[in-house]
Amino acid sequence: MDTEGIRDLLQRNYENARWDDVALRCLSCTNCTMVCPTCFCSTIEDVPDLSMENADRVRRWDSCFTDDFSYIHGGNMRPSVSSRYRHWITHKLSTWYDQFGTSGCVGCGRCITWCPPGIDITEEVRAIRASEEASS
Ligand code: SF4
Ligand code: SF4
Repeated sequence: MDTEGIRDLLQRNYENARWDDVALRCLSCTNCTMVCPTCFCSTIEDVPDLSMENADRVRRWDSCFTDDFSYIHGGNMRPSVSSRYRHWITHKLSTWYDQFGTSGCVGCGRCITWCPPGIDITEEVRAIRASEEASS
């Protein structure tokens, strides 16, 4: 992946038509986030036992690709697949630099291997870069 200026590249392309293109292929299945070694999103659930007298509060893995994850009081802030894919890749390759001073992608390729329709994060970045170069 060409990472030259990638943080700003994604910041500039929030409205790129490629997000709608990838949404036509993405199943929002969460596989990429489940296998990514740097994804860390989780949720909290209360699990009562059958007596209904005790409950455990447990943390389990979650994903920014689920409807529930983006639901806050009053609605879902990322209701479309395109907005969820954009959020995932923009966090991983752009705003991760602001949070942690480095990329959120180690280049392992697991998200590509386990994506049912074969969406390739390197191909999506290449397409965004190419569309920007074509319009300049
Ligand atoms: S290639 Fe990058 S985004 Fe994909 S699973 Fe590996 S670290 Fe995560
Ligand atoms: S694994 Fe592929 S289809 Fe599933 S949510 Fe990730 S990008 Fe979309």
